[in-house]
Order: sequence, then structure tokens, then C-alpha cells
Amino acid sequence: MLRFTYAPAPTRVIFGAGCVATLPEEVRRLSAGRVLMLCTPGRQALAERIATDLGDRVISVYAQAMMHVPADLAEAASQEARRMQADLCVAIGGGSTIGLAKAIALLQGLPILAIPTTYAGSEMTPIWGITEAGEKRTGRDERVRPRTVIYDPELTRDLPPHVAGPSGMNALAHCVEALYAPDANPITGLMAEEGIRALAEHLPHVVRTPDSLEARSGALYGAWLAGASLGAATMGLHHKLCHTLGGSFNLPHAEVHTIILPHAAAYNATAAPAALARAARALGAADAPTALFDLAVALGAPTSLHALGLRATDLDHATDLATRNSYPNPAPVTRAGVRRLLGAAFEGRRPEGTP
Ligand code: NAD
Repeated sequence: MLRFTYAPAPTRVIFGAGCVATLPEEVRRLSAGRVLMLCTPGRQALAERIATDLGDRVISVYAQAMMHVPADLAEAASQEARRMQADLCVAIGGGSTIGLAKAIALLQGLPILAIPTTYAGSEMTPIWGITEAGEKRTGRDERVRPRTVIYDPELTRDLPPHVAGPSGMNALAHCVEALYAPDANPITGLMAEEGIRALAEHLPHVVRTPDSLEARSGALYGAWLAGASLGAATMGLHHKLCHTLGGSFNLPHAEVHTIILPHAAAYNATAAPAALARAARALGAADAPTALFDLAVALGAPTSLHALGLRATDLDHATDLATRNSYPNPAPVTRAGVRRLLGAAFEGRRPEGTP
């Protein structure tokens, strides 16, 4: 029988090719007059181009965002925001840049306007992460949820296929885990299923025909739904494993998601048959775990942890770390089960079809 809690997210979303042109109007809506723009060094030219549309309301373009949001960077960027008396952060980039804006919001309450240029989904969540002494602390706090998000597929045109493929698989992982989350509700289910459908349809075109704005738009639409699913539902074994492997073994975030997802889906297939059937339907396949593996292959994305540089001797330690604390997951999280899952992901084996 139906039983759920539904709390709509307050983020204002503007979506469409060319809609970054609405930035000045959106900044005005937030009554901001002193904007700190954030980006990685690689996105600096783009950020500066966009900054010109805001004129003298931009007080600084801070192009130092980097992976995993190191604590000292978060502190330095916060000091810059305080010194400049910024009243809004505009974050242009992927999860790393939006993560830095969230760290500033956490430390001193600055609102965020996010302009995502990857499919990671951080822009739609109240989840923050800061890394200190090799350990990534994460948490949920409504202060870090962006007030406004501008999705402009034109800005994802530079995302090279080898980055776009894994980034899209990262988004798919949010949708798959949202389907079986303990706090799933009818709306997260609809968003997650439609997100899988859009990503599975458009990502292969993004990789094959990178100039196609229609494919870029479809994939970004899927990534929005994936981010919204991530923000609304509690993630399980898959995200826990990726967090452990990324944080403790310094493996690249989106690629780890790509490799683990088919195996985590197979792990949960028997315990969450209805969720996995929805995922399969959205993938246009009979079986979700094998279809996810085949999609990663079709995208030219890595399929084995071995290829990312993990060593076979790390697998036992990774298993210990991932099973140290308990967390919600449809299938019971056992040491033996997780070790088998990691072994299959290490070798890059195609999951067997769900019985
Ligand atoms: P990223 O932000 O690190 O970007 C990867 C690289 O791609 C960077 O060098 C960036 O400059 C470049 N790039 C970004 N957009 C580009 C474009 N359009 N064209 C060309 N290059 C571009 O990677 P990511 O996968 O977006 O984010 C990963 C990080 O986000 C991880 O640290 C992860 O933990 C975090 N994350 C957080 C949440 C959350 O809700 N808090 C959700 C998902 C991911």
C-alpha cells in the first residue's frame, strides 16, 4: 500500500539552449549586487565570458576550484568571499566547482546560483563534501542547496566524449539508487525512471556526434532529473562503494560510478525486483545490470577497476572500509557479498542476467 513523504525542493530551474543569457535577470531576482564567480582553471575563459554579461556586479572570478574540495581551499575561498563582501556565488562547472560553492555556503551562508557543465547533479542537492587529511566528510544542509540552477546545453558542448560518458553514467547511478531508496516517493520514482530513459537514449549520441545540440540537451535533461533524484532520495550500496573507492584510493569519481553501477544493480536485483524492472524498462532492455554494462561499453567508458589502477591487493581493504558502517540497501550488505561484487568490478566481468 502507498505510504510516503514528499517535500518539493525549492530550487528554481531554468533549462534550454542559450538560456545562460538569463543570468543577469536571475541574479537580480536574488537581489545580489556583489557576485563571486567560481570555476576550475580549465573553465576560466568561459566564466570570464559569462561574467561580462553581469558587468560591475562581478567582484571576482575565482578560478581555483579542484576535485574533492580540499578544506584549505574551502577556507581560502571563504575568506576571499568575506573580504570582497560577496552576496552571491555563481558556480560554473561540474561537481568540483559547485562543491566549492557549497563549502563557502556552509562556512558563511552565501547563496548559490549554479550553472552546471557536467552531468554530476550536485546542483540539485543539499549535499556537501569537504576533504581533509585524505578523508572526505559529507553531510546534508539546506544552506548549501543552490537557489537557482541554469542548465544550458550549449555550455556542455566542450565536454569531451571520454568525460561525458562516465559523467552520464554517474547521473544514471543516482536514478537507479533512487528507484529503490527507503525514502522513495511517487515523484522521485517518476523523475528517476524518466532520467534513466533520457540518459540511455541521448548519451550514445553525445559520444558519437558530440556536436549534436539535441543529444546534449537530452542528456542534460536526464542529468537534471538524476540530480533531483539524488537530492530527494537516500542512496545505498552503490554510492557508498564509489565514495569509498574514490576517497580512499584516489580513483576518478565518474569512472568509478560507471564501473560499479552494473554490479551494484546486480547485487540488488533479487531484493528490489520492481525497482530494477523499472530501470530495465527505462533502458529499453530485459535486464538492467547487463544493459548498464553494455551501455558503458557502448560509451567507450572504462569497465574495470583494474583499468583505473586499483590493485588486486586493495580489494580486501576496500571491502572492509565499505562494510564498516551500516546503511540502507535493499539486499543485506555482507562482507562476502561486497567482496564478490568488487572482484567482478575489478575484472570488468559483464554481470550475469537476473534470474
Ligand atoms: P569535475 O567538476 O571535477 O570536472 C571534471 C573536469 O571537467 C574539470 O577539470 C572541469 O574543469 C572539466 N569540465 C567541466 N565542465 C566541462 C565542459 N563543459 N567542457 C570541458 N571540460 C569541462 O567533475 P564532476 O564529475 O562534474 O564532479 C565530480 C565531483 O562532484 C566529485 O568530487 C563528487 O564527489 C562531486 N559530486 C557531488 C554531488 C553532491 O550532491 N554534493 C553530486 C555529484 C558529484
